[in-house]
Amino acid sequence: MCGAASEAYPYETGGVLAGVYTAGRPWVTHVQTVTPKRGMPSFYTLPEGKREQAIRSLRRLDPRIGYLGDWHSHPADVGPSCTDCNSIRSISLSGDLARPVLLIVRWTGEGHTLDARQWTGRRLRPLRVVAAGNLPPLAPRRRSRRLMALRQEGGSFSR
Ligand SMILES: [Zn+2]
Repeated sequence: MCGAASEAYPYETGGVLAGVYTAGRPWVTHVQTVTPKRGMPSFYTLPEGKREQAIRSLRRLDPRIGYLGDWHSHPADVGPSCTDCNSIRSISLSGDLARPVLLIVRWTGEGHTLDARQWTGRRLRPLRVVAAGNLPPLAPRRRSRRLMALRQEGGSFSR
């Protein structure tokens, strides 16, 4: 995210946060940067349909993953704007995620800092960011095991 923010500077960039909930807390496992086609915007908004598209492609890799929220960069050391609050509120009202996360990569003048918030239904509550690592590996899918079993049965039948 910081790399993408540096590349886009002095404009904003952003994307999608995906992962799981564990013990009621969001665990971001994947971050997708979505660069709008028409140049760099001074106010970032996720292009139409890109949120769903990003989640669909991530779920093909790991079906446990779901949408957790959005992120974007601020080329200055400022927190969420009114527009940011309104857009995260409308996500909470329109989607099936009541408490989306908003992560802002703020430029402090010396480097980037992560400002993570979660919509409570009334306001954007600050979150503490901790390094949680990757999800445990996926257990082999039941369906593929069943397919293998069927193949073996078929093999013995033809004999
Ligand atoms: Zn913003």
